[in-house]
Amino acid sequence: MNKETIISAIIDVCQTKKLDYITKVKSATWNADIVVKHETYKVAFNVCKCPRNVEATYKAMRKERVCGCWLLLPTRNSSYQERSLPCFNLISKTDKEVVCLNPKLDDNSTNQIELSIFLHSIIDGKIRFAEQAEINKVELCFYKNGCWKCHRENDVYFVNRLFSQKGVVIDGQNLMIDEDLTFNPSIIKGFQRYIQEHPSETFIMGEIKPRYSKTIGETYPSFGCAQCDSIFGNFYLQENMIELMYCTDSLRKAIITLDEPIEVSTNCWYKVND
Ligand SMILES: [Zn+2]
Repeated sequence: MNKETIISAIIDVCQTKKLDYITKVKSATWNADIVVKHETYKVAFNVCKCPRNVEATYKAMRKERVCGCWLLLPTRNSSYQERSLPCFNLISKTDKEVVCLNPKLDDNSTNQIELSIFLHSIIDGKIRFAEQAEINKVELCFYKNGCWKCHRENDVYFVNRLFSQKGVVIDGQNLMIDEDLTFNPSIIKGFQRYIQEHPSETFIMGEIKPRYSKTIGETYPSFGCAQCDSIFGNFYLQENMIELMYCTDSLRKAIITLDEPIEVSTNCWYKVND
């Protein structure tokens, strides 16, 4: 992968989309390797290892209805860029190049997009930054937890992924930053409805409700035993969750829909749903 191959990939996309483009553009206030003309705006690409003055250049471009995009070639000493700036790392995979939407997120299919799909999307204005997102779907992961008192096997869950209607996806490891959503009332309601709508799926689970914990001397929303109603302590469950979070592939999952969306701060780039 080098600058030339990436630029020729951009040209390929322009030709497929029948869009005009100009290479090696020098304006009074900014430069670009290639500028693509869309209907009412332009997209300017720069391909390099360590971009400079991205913020100032990006703003100067905006004044001329030009959307800047920096594609960063792999390098050992990558430069730090403000997260909200459109700088995206290129990664070479065995048979293709992919674009990483957000540098610190997991390498999953929602955060890493094949180069040509990315180029189509960004030219169409479908790669966007979200400071906040309205979460309307949540993926829960279930695992078995034996009751400490009666030893009955119970199901408990943790929140694994969040989805917004527009296409933002937030994965488990990045969820930990904010508040714990396990017992968010909207999620509990969504899960209860999921149980009603999927009668063939059985969950062995006591009611999710406030219980008194002797360990911390407080009452809090909790999972409990389906048989004896003993509380399953949050601290203990969170330790399990932190381990399981990295191997969720084998866990039972359910995607539940929320009637009342949950507003979360995201600060990430995403691809708008088609
Ligand atoms: Zn029990």
